[in-house]
Amino acid sequence: MDYFREIAKRNHRQVLFGNDPESGLQTIIAIHDLTLGPALGGCRMKTYLSTYEALVDALRLSRGMTYKAAAAGLDLGGGKSVIIGDPETQKSEDLLRAFGRMVDGLNGQYITAEDVGTTVPDMTIVREETQFVTGLPEDMDGSGDPSPVTALGVFHGLRAAAEEVYGSDDLSDKTVAVQGLGKVGWHLAEHLRDAGARLVVADIREDVVKKAQEELEAEVMAPDRIHAAECDIFSPCALGAVINNQSIEELKCRIVAGAANNQLADEKVQGPMLKLRGILYAPDFVINAGGLINVSGELDPDGYAREKQLEKTKRIYDSMKQCFSLAKERNVPTAEAAMIMAEERIEAAKK
Ligand code: NAD
Repeated sequence: MDYFREIAKRNHRQVLFGNDPESGLQTIIAIHDLTLGPALGGCRMKTYLSTYEALVDALRLSRGMTYKAAAAGLDLGGGKSVIIGDPETQKSEDLLRAFGRMVDGLNGQYITAEDVGTTVPDMTIVREETQFVTGLPEDMDGSGDPSPVTALGVFHGLRAAAEEVYGSDDLSDKTVAVQGLGKVGWHLAEHLRDAGARLVVADIREDVVKKAQEELEAEVMAPDRIHAAECDIFSPCALGAVINNQSIEELKCRIVAGAANNQLADEKVQGPMLKLRGILYAPDFVINAGGLINVSGELDPDGYAREKQLEKTKRIYDSMKQCFSLAKERNVPTAEAAMIMAEERIEAAKK
């Protein structure tokens, strides 16, 4: 196992392995790219099977942040950190403080935030040790829960996709199948209901599905069949890899546009397949950037202003249209166009 080869393979700038014997902290902070600005990305806490697995996760996620920030037009680089351990049993104030000190040692090259396994209250503890932390609660002048803003961005990205396919972004005559009614999916479903769309939904939690039936007049489908719903737009908002070689054959929609990360099992395979089938894919890291746009507002020298970040998030509509135009112009799948869009912005900044 050659760690350095893994690091060099994806062109990472710097990777810090942090060990704090007193608190038991073992962390890996990966900085992928700093061309556009400091590397902002969340801190994931998870039990990994090996250090190698943790490293690869940090490398993969931090690279993803570079592209997400660049495509969203933010002046941010890409970074991510992982803490190796069970967030239920191994997280402590000492551990989070030690993590904060590690982040502080990077002098602002890396800025952390919450992610899977860490929470907004955890970030307030990290804040005791470093200023290089975002995702703080609103009562600390932070941006709070990013999910409603992510949902807003997905809604506008979805409108842009409808405009591209149907020539109108009016969703009132459209059926949207939403997979997953969690923090993002529920808010998205509300936006869609308000826009007059007909909803088909699925979730593994029965209570939330029942609530959607009652409050959103949604039709319910089984979680493992929702991708095959008769609909105009399929919106994955739960899991990754829902578009794979099996499910792709069963899609009846004209658009795939949702919040979930890594929706395509392998973008080099399903990207071209969707194109071939005439299904428009709204690349996940472009359409779900609202949360990042929101949290980046905490770095504004004038302080976080929600309205400003909401306006920026609505512009995901334009980024989406730009991505679709580029895909047509270069005759490539939209997933590839999104990568090109991000890479060209970084290359232009380098020059
Ligand atoms: P969440 O955990 O709040 O919601 C996920 C929902 O999906 C839950 O209600 C869960 O019960 C449901 N679910 C799980 N398995 C399912 C299945 N097989 N079929 C149907 N439903 C299932 O998460 P979230 O914050 O809403 O995020 C949703 C997705 O969007 C994730 O992939 C996340 O990485 C991505 N995302 C979230 C944000 C954000 O701001 N929260 C930002 C960018 C990307």
